[in-house]
Amino acid sequence: MENPGLIITLAPEGQPRHAKCSACDADIDVGNENIQPKERKQKLNASFAEHIKTNHQREDFSQAAARILREATEDR
Ligand SMILES: [Zn+2]
Repeated sequence: MENPGLIITLAPEGQPRHAKCSACDADIDVGNENIQPKERKQKLNASFAEHIKTNHQREDFSQAAARILREATEDR
C-alpha cells in the first residue's frame, strides 16, 4: 500500500499555500495568509498529522508523513 505523503500544490516564493494528501487527494489546511513561514510549516505539519490520524490510522504512516513533510518543506 502506498504511504500517504504531503504534496505541496501551490508554493509561491517557497511558501506553502496549498497542499494535499497523495493517498486520498484531500486538501490539507495550510493556514491563513498572514503568518510567518515557520508557523505556516508548523500549521501544515499539524494539519497533515491530523489528517493522517483521522484518515490513515497507522503508526508508520504518521512517521513516514513527518519525514516526507520535512523533505517537502525544506528550504531550497
Ligand atoms: Zn489522505
